[in-house]
Amino acid sequence: MTYQNYSLKQLQQIDAAHHLHPFTDHKDLRDAGTRIVTHAKGPFIYDSEGNEILDGMAGLWCVNIGYGRDELAEVAAEQMKELPYYNSFFKCTVPTAALLAQKIASLAPKHINQVFFGSSGSESNDTALRIVRHYWALEGKPEKNRIISRKNAYHGSTVAGTSLGGMEGMHGQLGGAVPNIVHVMMPYAFELALPGESDHDFGLRAAKSIEDAILEAGPDKVAAFIGEPVMGAGGVKIPPASYWPEVQRICRKYDVLLMLDEVITGYGRTGNWFAAETFGVEPDTITTAKALTSGYLPLSALLVGDRIASTFIEKGGEFYHGYTYSGHPVCCAVGLRNLEIIEQEGLVERVRDDTGPYFAQALRERISPHPLVGETRSVGLMAAIEIVADKATRARFEPAGSAAVIVRDYAIANGMMMRATGDSMILSPPLIWTRDTIDLACDRILKALDLALTDLKPAS
Ligand code: PMP
Repeated sequence: MTYQNYSLKQLQQIDAAHHLHPFTDHKDLRDAGTRIVTHAKGPFIYDSEGNEILDGMAGLWCVNIGYGRDELAEVAAEQMKELPYYNSFFKCTVPTAALLAQKIASLAPKHINQVFFGSSGSESNDTALRIVRHYWALEGKPEKNRIISRKNAYHGSTVAGTSLGGMEGMHGQLGGAVPNIVHVMMPYAFELALPGESDHDFGLRAAKSIEDAILEAGPDKVAAFIGEPVMGAGGVKIPPASYWPEVQRICRKYDVLLMLDEVITGYGRTGNWFAAETFGVEPDTITTAKALTSGYLPLSALLVGDRIASTFIEKGGEFYHGYTYSGHPVCCAVGLRNLEIIEQEGLVERVRDDTGPYFAQALRERISPHPLVGETRSVGLMAAIEIVADKATRARFEPAGSAAVIVRDYAIANGMMMRATGDSMILSPPLIWTRDTIDLACDRILKALDLALTDLKPAS
């Protein structure tokens, strides 16, 4: 690789001179310098200083089959030689896009049989917004166009993605959101449950905030509700079991479409191909990306249920929407091979029956008792560790978010890549993790927590 002719310092200087990073304080970054990740194998990433780091985040929630899978490189090279690009506009298609759409439909819930491709989760959420609003227009109800979302949701970084999402900081920099999107409370019992309120009752109360928003606008003005089955970037917030069935009931009652954003949860993370199954809901759209190619190439797919698709097909009229790279032949070839690998290696079943329960138990038995930990929670291979100053009252350290950053920095310094979101540490490892990898991760997390204890003084 040509970069090997450059020293670490040179690469950092070049990066600082020319590369603006996503979600970054650029002043801070220039002061601190960048970590240069040079290669990766299986569950480990390696940086230019020779550190081996266990990747607890699967890149950015995506490298589900792990790093260094030659099969994907080979299939990409073959497809690039045969047909590197052609579009899917103007009544054309490419074989790998057709076959991948069929494959995704075969894995999706029965009532979902159509797929619209993009290159990123954000793009596919833009598509979802457009499709849902166009659906109601085709049904003769163009005024039924309000979307209900949730505070602190993450649905991407495009203007529509930011507007659908509920992150205040992002809205503050937007200078005008897509109109007619409202945000209700998140199902986050750890912080929002009332004293003495059961998880079950809290889940119902959080769902009721959606019903209240529907009634406030009038059901004939509300197109859809959108939600991540488990809020990911917002801190792996796993809703109580009562939440999603109640959301489904409310959506059906008022004829409001249900849009699931499974950009993180799609393709096995929760122990089923889709979290719709894990949480027992039947969405009208499912946004997917990331694990569709295990992040090896950019590709997203919006899964569109029969209700919407049949209206599009029956009523006709051009839908003015699409991307140059919709159905990109190389990305789709890699997606197909990636899904085959997940199937052949039984990774979804392994998460459901073995590593998911083992992960939950390891977190509960080894991490939860630590003096800095207020709660651990997980579903499949997706977890959060709440950092608290006081286990009994769940009080946090001041200023908010600072303690988790300390733990995270110790974790990374000790070979464990994980993220801090507010005061939640989050994990979303590759699905190839074994029981041994989980044990190793827990050893390193405990070490980081112990080191953080030397800086932080919990109350009890
Ligand atoms: N939705 C969710 C739930 C996500 O987690 C993300 C990315 N983390 C996105 C949408 C946006 O995906 P992308 O970064 O590929 O645009």
